[in-house]
Amino acid sequence: MAVRRREWLKTIAAAAVGAAGSPLLNRAHAQTSARNNVNRVQPLALKDYQPKSMLHVPETHVPRSRFPNIDFHTHLSWVDRKGKADVVTHTATPDEVLKVMDAKNIRMMVNLTGGYGPLLEETVRHWQQPHPDRFIVFTEPWYGKITMPNYSKFQAEQIAAAKKAGARGLKVLKTLGLYLRENVTTGPLVKVDDKRFDEMWEAAGALDMPVAIHVSDPEAFFLPTDRFNERYEELSAHPDWSFHGKDYPSNAELQEARNRVMQRHPRTKFVALHTADSENLPYVSECLDRYPNMYVDIAARIGELGRQPRMTRKFFDKYQDRILFATDATPHGDETPQQIFGNELYEIYYRFLETEDEYFDYAPAPIPPQGRWRIYGIGLPESILKKVYYENAARLLGL
Ligand SMILES: [Zn+2]
Repeated sequence: MAVRRREWLKTIAAAAVGAAGSPLLNRAHAQTSARNNVNRVQPLALKDYQPKSMLHVPETHVPRSRFPNIDFHTHLSWVDRKGKADVVTHTATPDEVLKVMDAKNIRMMVNLTGGYGPLLEETVRHWQQPHPDRFIVFTEPWYGKITMPNYSKFQAEQIAAAKKAGARGLKVLKTLGLYLRENVTTGPLVKVDDKRFDEMWEAAGALDMPVAIHVSDPEAFFLPTDRFNERYEELSAHPDWSFHGKDYPSNAELQEARNRVMQRHPRTKFVALHTADSENLPYVSECLDRYPNMYVDIAARIGELGRQPRMTRKFFDKYQDRILFATDATPHGDETPQQIFGNELYEIYYRFLETEDEYFDYAPAPIPPQGRWRIYGIGLPESILKKVYYENAARLLGL
């Protein structure tokens, strides 16, 4: 029916053009062209495109989480290189952060990037010591020492020293596998399952310090940044996030190396950050089934989880004892809108976990920063919310 109507309209238009001699039809034709000119669409750069959803759907505002929560994945400090020395940069003051925590029902925050050696001690002094019931600090490997002949033993001893200094766990950034090289910044890449770290993984397990490990990244980061790449805009904004080509391992190789580490150290608990591989939940499920010492967090991945809400909901059902609430929150992290610490960020996470709202933004930003899509709430029941918000993390951290 639609086709026939379109053909019929075409015939009318052709007749109007053909009847050029008729003044009446000429006027009608002129009016149509004027209207077409008004409606002519101007070219538009992708970066300027901000379509507004026309859906009429419920919008639930969730100002506080249903239960007090522990944000297992935040960056309240970083180790930066200044000249020849490593220094700690705090991204906020405790008071600034506590204000949002109190407003949003955040009981505790885990600052994963706490540094190592004397830098860790400084981080503990800034965050954990004045507020031991609100902030927890993790330590990181001292990669700059990897060329030491006895690095393996040194690094294991550092974990024990970090525990004494107050660290409650170990954080491993994607540095291991994607940045760290034999001579720190030059030479071949050091693999995630490099034997030199075996003593470190063992020490963490023996000291009851969970390992928060970030391995790999979205699959699109390993593909060319071209018109088929669904993260084209994100990779254009952060070209250094692309691991396509060069000597980089594949996403699968990185994950398999992490799996071998978990297998070799069954007493150590590993939290695979960013849901391990949030784009491939069947694979993450396989890993969780195979390695009982594996957990996951959801930091900076509700954009992925929320665009496959049915699969995600089943995933939460099945692994409700091994999923941790986490956001990757970074105060003043303006370059990564999906991580900007503040009221708005937490409200989006709560809406995703607690409601069945349809098609909303996963980040507090005018353009979805990780890809051009929106997400759906998974409406978890109270029993699962309690575990994900608080109980699983409390058990893991020995609180
Ligand atoms: Zn992070």
